[in-house]
Amino acid sequence: MEPQLAATDYHMQVATAVDERRLWQRHLKMAVFGARDDGGVNRQALSPADVSARIQLIEWATSRGYACATDPVGNLFVRREGRNPSLPAILTGSHLDSQPAGGKFDGVYGVLAGMEVLHALDTVGVATERAIEVVAWTNEEGSRFVPGMAGSSAFAGTLPLEKLLATRDREGILFEDALASVLAATPNVKRRALGFPVGAYLEAHIEQGPVLESTRCGIGVVAGIQGTRWFTVHVKGASAHAGTTPLAMRRDAFKATTSIVTALSSLLADGDDVLRFTVGRVVVEPNSPNTVPGSVQFTIDFRHPDFEILKKLGDRVESTCMEHAGKCDILVNETLNMSPIQFDKTITDIVSAAADELGLARMFLTSGAFHDAKSLSEMCPTGMIFVPCANGISHSPSENADPAGLAAGARVLALAVEQLAQRTTLSSPGRR
Ligand SMILES: [Zn+2]
Repeated sequence: MEPQLAATDYHMQVATAVDERRLWQRHLKMAVFGARDDGGVNRQALSPADVSARIQLIEWATSRGYACATDPVGNLFVRREGRNPSLPAILTGSHLDSQPAGGKFDGVYGVLAGMEVLHALDTVGVATERAIEVVAWTNEEGSRFVPGMAGSSAFAGTLPLEKLLATRDREGILFEDALASVLAATPNVKRRALGFPVGAYLEAHIEQGPVLESTRCGIGVVAGIQGTRWFTVHVKGASAHAGTTPLAMRRDAFKATTSIVTALSSLLADGDDVLRFTVGRVVVEPNSPNTVPGSVQFTIDFRHPDFEILKKLGDRVESTCMEHAGKCDILVNETLNMSPIQFDKTITDIVSAAADELGLARMFLTSGAFHDAKSLSEMCPTGMIFVPCANGISHSPSENADPAGLAAGARVLALAVEQLAQRTTLSSPGRR
C-alpha cells in the first residue's frame, strides 16, 4: 500500500474492488456444473460435476497467476503469495460439493468470496506479509461419502487418511478411486502434504437459517458452532390384541414413548429458545391399527452452544427415559457427542470491526450447522462470516441469496483476511 494512504482509505479501495457482478456471475457459472432441471445443483463430492467445478476454479486461479495445489484427499488450494512465504498462510474458503438436491450458494459462496478477496487485493496492489490461500475442501456435505467435513477433518488430523481413502459411497465406489479420477483430470496441479501449518482460517458461508434476513442484518459474526448430542432410544413393550387386552395388562411401547417425549420436552424446555430438541424419526412396530405397539425406536437430536448445558441435560436423557417408561424396557444409545466450538476472539473482533468500518449492520450468531471451520478450529485461530439467504432455506434447489448481500460479506472477508495476513504473529487456537 502507499504509505500516505490512511488505513481506512485503502480498506475502502479493497472493499470497492470486490466486484458484485463478477461474484454473482461466478455463482451462476459454477451452478452449471451439476445443474438440476428444477434450478438446483447436484454436485456431489468427487463426481464429474465436482471435477468440472474444480477445473473452472483452477482456470480462474491460473489466469491470474495464482499457484494451485492439492493434498492427498483432494483439498484444493489457490495461493496468492505473501512477502514472507515461510509464514503459515491465512486460509479462506469452503466447499464445492453439494447435497443431491442442493442449491447454488452453500459452500460455493465461501470459495468464490475467497477468490474475490485475492482479486480485490491485486486490484488495489496490496502486498501482505503472509500468503493468502483459497481452499475448496473435499466432501463437506457427507451426502456421497460419510462422514461430512471429510477433507477438512483429514487435513486437521481428526480423521485418519487411510480410513477416509477406504470409505465407499452407496454404489460401492471407493473414495480413493473417485479421488484418483479427479486428480487425473487436473494433472497440472502440484501435490502437497496434508495438514501443513495454517496461520488462521476464516470461512464465509450463507447462514442456512432465517435470523439475518428476518432482522435485516447483513453480516453474521459467527461466535461458534453449537454442540450436538444424538441418541437412539428403543422402547420395548409387548404386542397384543387391541380389542381383547385390558389397558392395565398392556405394555404399550407407543404410550410409553409419548410419556417419555413429553418428559424430555419438559427437561429440554428453554424459554430463551436457544436449545434445539428434535425427535425426527419414530419407528413403531408392528405398526398395525388393531395391535398394541410392542416396540418403538426413536431418535433424539439435542443441540446447544453451551458445553455445560449440553453435558448436564444430555446426561439426564437416559434416566428421564427410564423414569417414564412405565412397564416397558428401555435401551438408550448415544450415537454422537460433539462439543460446541468457540471461535477465536481475535478473529471475531476483526470481523466485527471490518463490518463496522464498512457501515454494515452485523450481529453475533452461533452456527446451528456443522462447517469445515469446525475442523480447522482444532489447529489454528478460526472464524466464520455468515450472509443472509432467502427465507433461511438451504440444502434445497430453492436456495437463494442477494447479489449485494453476497458482495457485502466478501468485502468484510477481504478486510478481515488482509488484516490477518499482515500479522506476523497469531495465537494458537484457544482450546476448550
Ligand atoms: Zn456448506
